[in-house]
Amino acid sequence: MGGDAALPPDAGFSTRAIHAGQEPDAATGAVVVPIYQTSTYAQEALGRNKGYEYARTHNLTRASLERNLAALEGGRFGLCFASGLAATNTLLQSLSAGDHVVAGHNLYGGTFRLMERVLKRHGLAFSFIPTTDPEAVERAFTPATRMLFVETPTNPMMQLTDIAAVSERAHRRGIKVVVDNTFMTPFFQRPLSLGADVVMHSVTKYLNGHSDMVGGALVTSDEALAESLRFLQNAAGGVPGPMDCWLALRGTKTLAVRMQRHEENARVLARALAGHARVAAVFYPGLPTHPQHALAQRQASGFGGMISFIPGDGSLEAGRRTFDRFRIFARAESLGGVESLVCHPASMTHASVPRETRLAMGFADGLLRLSVGIEDAKDLLADLEQALQGI
Ligand SMILES: *Cc1c(COP(=O)(O)O)cnc(C)c1O
Repeated sequence: MGGDAALPPDAGFSTRAIHAGQEPDAATGAVVVPIYQTSTYAQEALGRNKGYEYARTHNLTRASLERNLAALEGGRFGLCFASGLAATNTLLQSLSAGDHVVAGHNLYGGTFRLMERVLKRHGLAFSFIPTTDPEAVERAFTPATRMLFVETPTNPMMQLTDIAAVSERAHRRGIKVVVDNTFMTPFFQRPLSLGADVVMHSVTKYLNGHSDMVGGALVTSDEALAESLRFLQNAAGGVPGPMDCWLALRGTKTLAVRMQRHEENARVLARALAGHARVAAVFYPGLPTHPQHALAQRQASGFGGMISFIPGDGSLEAGRRTFDRFRIFARAESLGGVESLVCHPASMTHASVPRETRLAMGFADGLLRLSVGIEDAKDLLADLEQALQGI
């Protein structure tokens, strides 16, 4: 669906990842899409050009990435942005003052901040609710609701939303459904095929996969919406640079093999954590003990590489003792790169969430989140084990 004449319509995921949007360069035959590092394009004569005028509007490296991501998500249209938040901001700019959005209560902190502290001032209204319950989602809809925005699984509690169930309820009222698919990637989960209208990505994470750029994307098959987003992409201008698009294109070529390895390693670590005497709780949808394990199996083809767990008694001290001992896992925010990271969400990514709100979700002071990389599982396991000896 990437519009590539040479690709068979039933081409597999990795074939699309490597070829969609990336036919050899027309001018030279270069196999790798060039970095079109230009801000403008020369006209042949007055009013005559090659379809390119100015790089905020048209850039071929960006267009390649957009077609590539659309093909991976099984959507007709892809749009890329300077960051995940720029993508979400542009998407929400398609709404108007007075419109209402229902969103998950455990969204990525930056998404919550954009909605609550920026777009509310522009007249949009938001309800933040636990989207894990499709009935609660339906109850939150009002006559002014235009959009449902969910993240599944959530960060760091790894709670799932049933995409098909909430999409059906939203569509009965003409409400558009947006899924932030950053954690699962299209390799494991394709929200459009489950009924969602738009998929949003922080390309910064797994899609690029090498922790060396920041980017965002939207994918949809809704032509009218795509047209409005294309207008806003140019009118509001949150576009990515060609170098970053090129890095992301290099990243998606290995998405399948990376995701397989991320998950393989995550399963090893989740199993070890689940049976560990110094661990109070583990949150990973791939564990049969996860309350939504059946839903995870139904709506995704894998469980991903993100794990949260509560060391020792859940206290900040137990978290700190474990966190500070990691040697291979780098202590850092972000996720989805080849290197393993450990994060203390309460003081890092979720510092703005009130403590009572956190605790009510089972999000203990000492909770740690792992972005499991693609190093050798035995080394990650040994690092985790020695870190837990700190308690
Ligand atoms: C990182 C992230 C974002 C924001 O993306 P940026 O590229 O940092 O702007 C949104 N959602 C999720 C789930 C993320 O992890």
